[in-house]
Amino acid sequence: MNEKRGLLIGRMQPLHKGHISVIKETLKEVDELIIGVGSADQSHTNSNPFTSGERVMMLTKALREYNIDPSKYYIIPLEDVSCNALWVAHVKMLTPPFCKVYSGNSLVKQLFRENNMEVVQPPLFNRREYSGTEIRKRMLNNEDWESLVPSSVAEVIKEIKGQERLINLNIKEVSEM
Ligand code: ATP
Ligand code: MG
Repeated sequence: MNEKRGLLIGRMQPLHKGHISVIKETLKEVDELIIGVGSADQSHTNSNPFTSGERVMMLTKALREYNIDPSKYYIIPLEDVSCNALWVAHVKMLTPPFCKVYSGNSLVKQLFRENNMEVVQPPLFNRREYSGTEIRKRMLNNEDWESLVPSSVAEVIKEIKGQERLINLNIKEVSEM
């Protein structure tokens, strides 16, 4: 039965402490949680710097760091599709069956509701700081970003030289300007 299996989608660019809080809270409501890594085909851009594999690694290590029972979740990369109208079918094809969607994204909410799925908007934790956009901005400005992500995620970002990647992506060659 899929009655107590939920779906939560985030791009996790990178995974931060807000994502961990919402995962922990949602796991209190469902038996199993499908964690969809959105825009899995995107990487090496300013807003999507990390690959799907890197983000799966961040999630796997961080959920272990927070002692979250591995039998309770599935991590599934979800590539974008060019037709929004087909996106829900695409997600359903790639994931275990689920009955409830947890999202704060307007498009995600709209598309699932049009498919008669129950959608709930979980509360945001310390959104001023726990935000992918804020963390990428701090990485570019060499400000403290490490305190906003689990320490295992900071380790992954160091291993893959993620901060340098983001900085290099933002350096415009004269010919590009
Ligand atoms: P970006 O700024 O790159 O869009 P983001 O912080 O919004 O990053 P996403 O990867 O877009 O994070 O994931 C979005 C989902 O993650 C939201 O729909 C919400 O469910 C959850 N989320 C993001 N930030 C928080 C937070 N601070 N507290 C709780 N949930 C959060
Ligand atoms: Mg977002």
